Amino acid sequence: MTTTVNAYGAISATDPLEPMTIERRDLRPHDVLIDIDYAGICHSDIHTLRGEWGEIAYPQVVGHEIVGHVAAVGSEVTKHKVGDRVGVGCESGSCGQCEQCAKGEEVYCLKGNIQTYAGVDVDGTITQGGYSQATVIDERFVLSVPEALPLEKVAPLLCAGVTLYAPLKHWNAGPGTKVAIIGMGGLGHVGVKLAHALGAEVTVLSRTLAKKDDGLAFGADHYFATEDPATFADHQAEYDLILSTVSAGIDYDAYVDLLAVDGTLVLLGAPTDALSVTPMKLISHRRSIAGSANGGIVDTQEMLDFCAQHDVLPETELIAADDINAAYKRVVDSDVRYRFVIDAMTFG
Ligand code: NAP
Ligand code: ZN
Repeated sequence: MTTTVNAYGAISATDPLEPMTIERRDLRPHDVLIDIDYAGICHSDIHTLRGEWGEIAYPQVVGHEIVGHVAAVGSEVTKHKVGDRVGVGCESGSCGQCEQCAKGEEVYCLKGNIQTYAGVDVDGTITQGGYSQATVIDERFVLSVPEALPLEKVAPLLCAGVTLYAPLKHWNAGPGTKVAIIGMGGLGHVGVKLAHALGAEVTVLSRTLAKKDDGLAFGADHYFATEDPATFADHQAEYDLILSTVSAGIDYDAYVDLLAVDGTLVLLGAPTDALSVTPMKLISHRRSIAGSANGGIVDTQEMLDFCAQHDVLPETELIAADDINAAYKRVVDSDVRYRFVIDAMTFG
């Protein structure tokens, strides 16, 4: 038995998204039924639906920035109760046994986790994401949303928020560290707010200065244009941590020059282009290049609590389901300020 819910998804890599219905499974003992209130639009949704990260099965509903209320719980659920304000991010399952899962780092589950959409669920079905009225998720992957956070702003924290929070924490961003963030879109702008709240000195490296006033208002101490060669000439060996949130291929070699001794360039943005870096640039300053995937459940809950405590909220634009295709175009054109959030009431 399943329950049919309204959703918005794609039937191919090239068709626009359209209204559709999907099935949600009946509650297993540890499942939570969530009535979705809002779903954020992440650039990963677009990469996935358009087949930019490889072939997927259609029809597919995406969305991994999900917030809502608990509508029902399975017989053995202890973590949540009906009425709770909850969220779901990029993962909705993992083996629960390996050393990464034991640490709360389900995102790095050694057996491979279950992605909230376009993943293979325990029953072999393809997971369908949050652009829908309701979803069913294992309680381990359901986060508690603090009362202090307004629900219509929270959704982007479930992916964009933790994707920036986890590396900032892992690489010890804080007072006395210089953090640069490349790209000020959905991920980047939350990163600016988080890094500032953590006490780091924050620089935005954006293509132009068009969003400079916003960046400074979000807490950046400096804002430079990467289209200006002076940015690279003037800031050699300066930053302890550089986080790339860029969705397209960039000249990573040029950014390595901006890393201080022992500095790390962390790739968060996920274009498929291979990167090319000059080894001596790493050797000479003991620099590193790393990648980081959103974050485990421990970090995600910690991030939500941190945002409530420090009043960190994404800048959002609320849209209806019928606006999703136009919103996708605006995301691809970097014309989003700074995250679209879909009102789930409009799924019908
Ligand atoms: P977004 O809102 O579109 O932001 C991307 C930013 O990248 C843009 O605002 C723009 O910043 C910059 N940019 C875009 N095209 C560029 C180009 N051709 N050259 C240089 N800069 C360019 O996207 P998002 O939702 O923040 O996601 C960003 C990337 O992170 C995507 O690839 C997404 O799939 C990935 N992602 C990864 C994880 C993870 O777990 N690691 C999680 C979520 C998302 P400026 O206008 O300021 O230059
Ligand atoms: Zn995402």
